[in-house]
Amino acid sequence: MGRRRFLLTAAATSTSAIAYGKLAGLASPDAQNIYAVANGSNAAAEVKDASSASYAKKITTDVVVVGSGAGGMTAAIRAKQRGVKNVLILEKRAEPGGNSLFAPIPKKRDEKTSKAQIFKAAMESTGWRGDPRVIGTMIDKSEEIADWLKGFAGEAAKGGVYDGKLVKILRDECDRLGIQIVCDTRAKKLLKNENNAVIAVVAEQRGEEIKVEATSTVLATGGFLGDPEYMKKYFPIYDDNFSTEINTEGLLYTADGIRMALETGAGDDGTISFAWGSNKMPFFKGDLKKFPVVSILTDNTRTPAIWVNNVGVRFTNEPEKNATNAIYRQPNKSCFIMIDTGTVEYMAGKLPGLVSLETLQQEIPALIDADQALVTDSVAAIAAWIGGKRHILQNHVDTYNKCCEKGFDDIFYRDVDMLVPLKKPPFYVFRSGLALRNTHGPLKISGMGSIVSKWDWPIPALMACGADIGGLHANLLIDGDESHSIEWTIASGLRAGENAAAYMNGNRPVQVFEFPKYTAKEVMAGHYKNTGELPAGTAMPPSGSQAPRSDSGTKYH
Ligand SMILES: Cc1cc2nc3c(=O)[nH]c(=O)nc-3n(C[C@H](O)[C@H](O)[C@H](O)COP(=O)(O)OP(=O)(O)OC[C@H]3O[C@@H](n4cnc5c(N)ncnc54)[C@H](O)[C@@H]3O)c2cc1C
Repeated sequence: MGRRRFLLTAAATSTSAIAYGKLAGLASPDAQNIYAVANGSNAAAEVKDASSASYAKKITTDVVVVGSGAGGMTAAIRAKQRGVKNVLILEKRAEPGGNSLFAPIPKKRDEKTSKAQIFKAAMESTGWRGDPRVIGTMIDKSEEIADWLKGFAGEAAKGGVYDGKLVKILRDECDRLGIQIVCDTRAKKLLKNENNAVIAVVAEQRGEEIKVEATSTVLATGGFLGDPEYMKKYFPIYDDNFSTEINTEGLLYTADGIRMALETGAGDDGTISFAWGSNKMPFFKGDLKKFPVVSILTDNTRTPAIWVNNVGVRFTNEPEKNATNAIYRQPNKSCFIMIDTGTVEYMAGKLPGLVSLETLQQEIPALIDADQALVTDSVAAIAAWIGGKRHILQNHVDTYNKCCEKGFDDIFYRDVDMLVPLKKPPFYVFRSGLALRNTHGPLKISGMGSIVSKWDWPIPALMACGADIGGLHANLLIDGDESHSIEWTIASGLRAGENAAAYMNGNRPVQVFEFPKYTAKEVMAGHYKNTGELPAGTAMPPSGSQAPRSDSGTKYH
């Protein structure tokens, strides 16, 4: 048996027990080419530690993707669509999908909103700290998503549908294209050649180290919600009590892709965001679909409820889309949602046939049993339940009611049509609070999906997408826009997949703006140096100094 055949057989045998999907694909005619790397391949390049390290198994492929969420699977499918023969996904969990299992299929973009409007809104949401080139590219790519998904999933790609459908259609497409998802395999380290190009991933599989050599590598490991070091670094008041105060809805990832990339010389973009779950009832572990009426009545954008903290203080303009962020400031990050019979009747008038006192009464006993809701005529009972002070709570309810009478909220300036008083007992109170979903950032990337150094120089053959990348979001986010995160995960996956494929085109110029005139072969051979160092003697402004101001006399406010 020739060496290639031997490796092929070994790879097929040893991964079969853990691969998701049809590993038989390895023995298909395509698989014959698993080692047939394109001209731009780095397979011939030296792996720095190859001589010292020994691996239980070596696999060679064209593109290796780390992480099988929507970002990783999108990148893999796109690379395959761009002509890459062999694409392999490594997944550390037993099942593919990651947090993308919770996300919806993105809807088709509203054509009435121009790219310029989306761009400005996106930049504004980051306080203009976001990377305009990355944001611009992702907006372009986002426009393709709906048609792209439809292209292989047809009507199953209906926008707005949850229940893991997005992951299912991406998994099905990976299957159809012969992209293997090798589960229970955790990537640990990236190997580079002397030209700084990433040429292999070292992973742990059932206690053994394996090496996956590839021409291009894409990182898509879903963020760092479960990594105390990163949480402390980026979340100013993260402390060891955090998890008792803030529920987490997302999978607790340990920043694997981020750490590997930083070790490899990636820049830290610094634009981090944390997504909160919506302020409904995150502490109730049951399925909210079983509580459709409570779900509406605790939705701050729909129902004129008031929120109080566990002292009894009303603390924000509740119906605002981003009001959830205000919970972060409250003692114990506490929030209770209060409505009364009058609010229910008001909503019943707006949504007849859906909301009524009867339907609410059918749902609420289970929430009371779980200590997630209270129904009472007494403000004192509410104060006792939330652990606050009766007179403080009474004062805040009275003040709010006076605003309703005046038709003007001179405290938080709530819109007039959301000023509905709380005067008709019984009161319905729901335990709410903050739930952290996932993180975004901080890997610095180019608009083409390449991971770049702090000098903005791309690290050849290394891409990233999804929640690991920075530049797109900043600050805290809530999920007011149902696709804000998944849309850019897929958009960045498309871009990363395209760029990964570009490295296979050895003798053609790489279709990426950062290498306008080099072929992949030249890039991999180090014609394009990735040091970012300035020529000796270059004058730099002293550290901390400001960029020179325009002398045009313009005044900035
Ligand atoms: C509860 C919840 C609800 C959400 N709802 C919405 C919503 O309504 N709308 C929206 O736009 N977004 C939503 N999001 C956010 C959305 O899910 C994320 O933006 C998206 O999943 C990010 O995709 P990803 O591919 O980057 O990461 P993920 O989908 O999380 O995938 C990362 C994958 O990488 C794997 N991995 C990690 N480390 C390694 C390693 N070392 N080796 C191999 N594999 C590794 C993980 O196991 C995982 O499978 C929600 C998130 C949560 C948690």
